[in-house]
Amino acid sequence: GLQCGIVGLPNVGKSTLFNAISSGKAEAANYPFCTIDPNVGVVTVPDERLDTLETLVKPQKVVPTIVEFVDIAGLVKGASQGQGLGNKFLANIREVDAIVHVIRCFQDENVVHVEGRVDPIFDKEIIDTELQLKDLESVDKKLQRIEKAARVSGDSRAKAELETLLKYKKALESGKSARTVDVSEEEKQAAIGDIHLLTVKPVIYVANVDEASLPNGNEYSERLKAAVKDEGAEVVIISAAIESQISEMEDPDERQLFLEEYGLTESGLSKLIKACYSLLGLITYFTAGVKEVRAWTIRRGWKAPQAAGVIHTDFEKKFIRAQVIKLPDYVQYKTEAGVREAGKLSVEGKEYVVQDGDIMEFLHGA
Ligand code: GDP
Repeated sequence: GLQCGIVGLPNVGKSTLFNAISSGKAEAANYPFCTIDPNVGVVTVPDERLDTLETLVKPQKVVPTIVEFVDIAGLVKGASQGQGLGNKFLANIREVDAIVHVIRCFQDENVVHVEGRVDPIFDKEIIDTELQLKDLESVDKKLQRIEKAARVSGDSRAKAELETLLKYKKALESGKSARTVDVSEEEKQAAIGDIHLLTVKPVIYVANVDEASLPNGNEYSERLKAAVKDEGAEVVIISAAIESQISEMEDPDERQLFLEEYGLTESGLSKLIKACYSLLGLITYFTAGVKEVRAWTIRRGWKAPQAAGVIHTDFEKKFIRAQVIKLPDYVQYKTEAGVREAGKLSVEGKEYVVQDGDIMEFLHGA
């Protein structure tokens, strides 16, 4: 599944956000693969289309997809040199698919700021610098290896790799993250595919604002937005304190009223999950049977066999064909039989590119 690592300086609201994520457990607790790790919070991905399908199919159970959030505490100035939790913490970041960088955008005299003042840009740079220094180490190590190979053998592949690596080195040395380096996917794979850089991972910034600054943010979050514009990164405005209150509400109506009070249409967590999905180019398809209506996560552009593979590897290997229904058709004709009769059920082969919201049924060999 999708794993997002939460990073940020101390006292910016990471734990508050993480606790909101992991205490909103009502739904995740039913999830069969729920892991019990205090640093991992499992959340279900909110999706109205599942509710629609549930109403139509009336299945025995509904299984949403999940996202895991990992609390990566302990990043402070000097972490790349082993300060704080240092290397252990950095190793945790290597495992995740995306980074959620929480930045303090609230004033509160009672909450000490580690650097003595609220300054979102400076805070962001402290974290970035630590990660970049670590990456620079990795790039330098690889450079040493490749330089030798390029010199000794005059190997043209090694030379190309060397050139790409130097681009990364230059960026990292000038305070830029590896994700900003402009190289082709193949060049990138060849040069850094094996060294697991930290700053190459996609990032979402969470501006943790005070409740009075909901829903649109404040001066701090505006500055943050302006600063990350060039990275093309999204800034999600959240109040961790409010999220923690939302997570305690079980009654959906109560929750809705509470959100409205703050001018919100959905929780910050829900916004964050959606942002992660779009950042990583993820989409959802559904399977809809009377036993189970279920959402599955795949990457945009995946063909039917690969999409089937997330259900079971055999489905991919022994894929024969897929039956596809579009949700609006299901809504209009009410049942699979109805859709079929109306001629709206399509049968697709190996080359079919699965679309967001498709209702799929796979036929596979024994
Ligand atoms: P962490 O060190 O990044 O995990 O930060 P915490 O989540 O422990 O938060 C540090 C302090 O800031 C705690 O006392 C929180 O109650 C407080 N805090 C977190 N989010 C907010 C917020 O949105 N507004 C205010 N005023 N305080 C917050």
